[in-house]
Amino acid sequence: MGPEWSVDELLQAVIFGSPLALYVVDEAGLVQLWNPACEALFGWSAAEALGRRLPFVGPESVVEFDRLRRRVLAGKSVVNVQRQRRHRDGHSIELSISTVPLHDRNGAIRSVLGVSQDVSRQKAAEAALLREAHFDGLTGLLSRRRFVELLDRSLARRRCRDAVVYLDLDNFKDVNDTHGHGIGDQLLAQFAERLRAVVREGDAVARMGGDEFAVLLREVGPRTIHRVVRRIFDALVEAGPVVVGGREFVVRPSGGAALCRPTGSSQHVLRSADVAMYEAKRGGRGGFLVFDQLMQDAVVERVELEAQLGQAVDRQQFVVFYQPTFALVDGRLTGVEALIRWQHPDLGLLPPGRFIHLAEANGSIIEIGRWVLRQACAQLRVWQDTHPAASSLRMSVNLSPAQLRSTELTCDVSEALQRFGIEPRLLQLEVTETVLAADGASEALSQLRSLGVRLAIDDFGTGYSSLTSLRRFTFDTLKIDRSFVAGIDTSTEDRAIVVATLSLSHALGLQTVAEGVNTDGQRRFLSDLGCDEAQGFLLGRPGAAASIDALLEATEPLRFNELRRASIDAGTLRLGVSDAPLDDHTRCSTPSSVSPTRVRVPVRS
Ligand code: C2E
Ligand code: MG
Ligand code: MG
Repeated sequence: MGPEWSVDELLQAVIFGSPLALYVVDEAGLVQLWNPACEALFGWSAAEALGRRLPFVGPESVVEFDRLRRRVLAGKSVVNVQRQRRHRDGHSIELSISTVPLHDRNGAIRSVLGVSQDVSRQKAAEAALLREAHFDGLTGLLSRRRFVELLDRSLARRRCRDAVVYLDLDNFKDVNDTHGHGIGDQLLAQFAERLRAVVREGDAVARMGGDEFAVLLREVGPRTIHRVVRRIFDALVEAGPVVVGGREFVVRPSGGAALCRPTGSSQHVLRSADVAMYEAKRGGRGGFLVFDQLMQDAVVERVELEAQLGQAVDRQQFVVFYQPTFALVDGRLTGVEALIRWQHPDLGLLPPGRFIHLAEANGSIIEIGRWVLRQACAQLRVWQDTHPAASSLRMSVNLSPAQLRSTELTCDVSEALQRFGIEPRLLQLEVTETVLAADGASEALSQLRSLGVRLAIDDFGTGYSSLTSLRRFTFDTLKIDRSFVAGIDTSTEDRAIVVATLSLSHALGLQTVAEGVNTDGQRRFLSDLGCDEAQGFLLGRPGAAASIDALLEATEPLRFNELRRASIDAGTLRLGVSDAPLDDHTRCSTPSSVSPTRVRVPVRS
């Protein structure tokens, strides 16, 4: 049994029910078929369209339409072309059109079937997406993606005279935090406007995300890049505060610039500019820096060191130096501070300033810190076993913020104490003020305290802690930062700070240690004010454990009056030891105080 409908009927239903606009035109271009979807799409009824030229072909598309029709009449189907046509009321419609030749009974092509569909919405959505991908919604600047595309293009053309400037706003986070995102957004938009105004016509300006912006400078070259970037920064600064909602905001941009390299990728150039910006910020200079080879070397060194740090403990490349502290009242040796050094296979003995921050950043500080702790306790054990004078010697170990955040710290400390049989009161752990602001610091410190170890606040006066934190966390020792001690000889302000710190420290019942004592004047000043202890190059430099052995063997305490004579004898001693060359840190030194006759005070040669 065949179907109960005819093919003709089916075709009729398809043509008249279809949501696709279907029409047929003859060789002359006159409409022969016009379905209801055509009526809806173009606004012309079948009665109006039939027998006429296609009403939707506006004068602007007549030629193009005829070309299309002739191609189809020549026997080619054209599928899915996108064209603009006109609605009866004049607005234009984006169409997807397919055209197919129709044959008569003799096989000749006499007419053309058109199938059209409105894709205006889809097109608009695509355009919006493209806009979004290419432009930043808030500022109207280019998007990161578009910027990278342009940069790629510039690199592909080997335009080595082009350069990238990367910049961000130093104080933006504060504005956002204090005044809310609405104000923050307006500030960014205004800054973007300024940035666009200060660069040249052909330069591309993008917002890379957050408060980060980038400019692709065309044709600057190595000679003029500094001048061009300076001009941009000067103009941004000179523009003065940005006014948002009646309030003035000072915007401080920092930036870095890098030239495009013939061999570099866009990633590479952006990273270089970013590194330069980071260096500009790191130096606390604000402003901007242009990436150069030296910077590159420093970064490479940093990256390499960071990578090597992980294995340095296993490879036994670390050494602990010890620096003595003395009681100011009688010159007695009171303790030592463990100070790490890295015996690097290529670079020699590195001071902690070269690598501790890297170890902090990559997390290896936990393992390194544990190693120092054990090493220091083991050494104290050795001294206690071999020198009667070491029975009350205090061992100080520095803790970094990451260690304080780590859950293993208390465990590590108590394990080291037990393993080497160290009385907890002889171990002093030093933390800097900045650590105190961190979450969880309070808990970590009270856990340590419950073990019975001493806690010291290091580099006092340089961090951000408030005086309240001194009361909140119970410390045993306060170490006055050496920058203030250094100023005792020369600066009334520094002297005032030292005096105030000492009285604060005493009022709170803390043991006070002055760091970096390196002239006898400083020593006497501190001693007269009742400072308990001193540490510094004048009294003893950090050295290998053997240097402390010598001190422990000495039968007499350090004689300060002898020390003074020695420094006077040395004549030119007015200059501070802090002026000494860097490798002073790294040289294993003989203690300056083994006996009065061997006192050595550094002199600039
Ligand atoms: P710090 O704890 O304040 O240690 C004192 C620093 O001042 C030492 O530098 C010492 O050599 C230096 N110093 C002492 N007396 C004088 C002086 O009279 N003049 C001058 N110019 N400097 C003096 P060092 O050994 O380079 O250590 C620097 C910092 O590195 C330490 O400062 C400490 O914060 C950190 N550090 C050292 N060892 C470790 C460690 O094992 N772990 C952690 N987390 N940090 C450590
Ligand atoms: Mg310290
Ligand atoms: Mg210190």
